[in-house]
Amino acid sequence: MKGKNWREYQPQRKQKKRHRHRKGGILKKLILAVLLFALGYVGFQIYFRYSKPYVIGLDAGHGGIDVGAVGVIQEVDLTEHTTAKLAELLQADGRFRVVLSRDEGEDKSITDRNKLFQRVKPNLVLSIHANSGEDASAFGFECYPSPPGKPNYEKSLVLAQYIAKEMEGAGARLRGTDGVRFGYYVADEEGNTSKLLLDSTDTQIYDYDTFGMLKNMACPTVLVEQCFVTNQEDVAEFGTDEGCARAAQAYYQAICKYLEDVEKAEPK
Ligand SMILES: [Zn+2]
Repeated sequence: MKGKNWREYQPQRKQKKRHRHRKGGILKKLILAVLLFALGYVGFQIYFRYSKPYVIGLDAGHGGIDVGAVGVIQEVDLTEHTTAKLAELLQADGRFRVVLSRDEGEDKSITDRNKLFQRVKPNLVLSIHANSGEDASAFGFECYPSPPGKPNYEKSLVLAQYIAKEMEGAGARLRGTDGVRFGYYVADEEGNTSKLLLDSTDTQIYDYDTFGMLKNMACPTVLVEQCFVTNQEDVAEFGTDEGCARAAQAYYQAICKYLEDVEKAEPK
């Protein structure tokens, strides 16, 4: 009886052991899968960050149902076309990884675009817009760096000066003293906000809010107003396919020169 009991007992024990073994196997596979995933994720992050010396954030203003200013052309057509051209130039260069704030045609809030760049931490961000005037005679190029007192103000100003200079070289007529301005939103007592645009010579620190895309940025950031969509001549120069390509070329040159001169010692 003793032996029989033993034989009867054995298979049961084996079965139990096998069962336990299978359970352990699944757990091991699961841990391995999680580890592999984590390793892949870290690897991707490292590749993303270090495979190219510089990460450039590009923001095509407006998008989706928000077409921006409307004049001879729609602002959004200009911002998307120029951004696509600039991304092409940067990618062909080989030194840059381009991060776009949104897809073509996508309607995404400025807060979400700003947050994306705060997360990705590019070396610099360029936000592309176009101007409009009630009077069709208003013309020219201007750009807005992060203003005095805000993060990365000094570097943003230098980048803006490089951009304005290249745009002037491409034939743009610069607005203000040098095509560089500081932009603020000023609220009155009733809570209505209006834009306050100051020349780059006004380096006083104001407590006003600035443009959404320039807020809390961890890198030099410049918003460009490429031309006036309400001005025929401006659109012919910088609003057509060819004109957008010309502006993109100027931005590309400015980005290269800025990074070579200012950021060379600290690529990401
Ligand atoms: Zn705009």
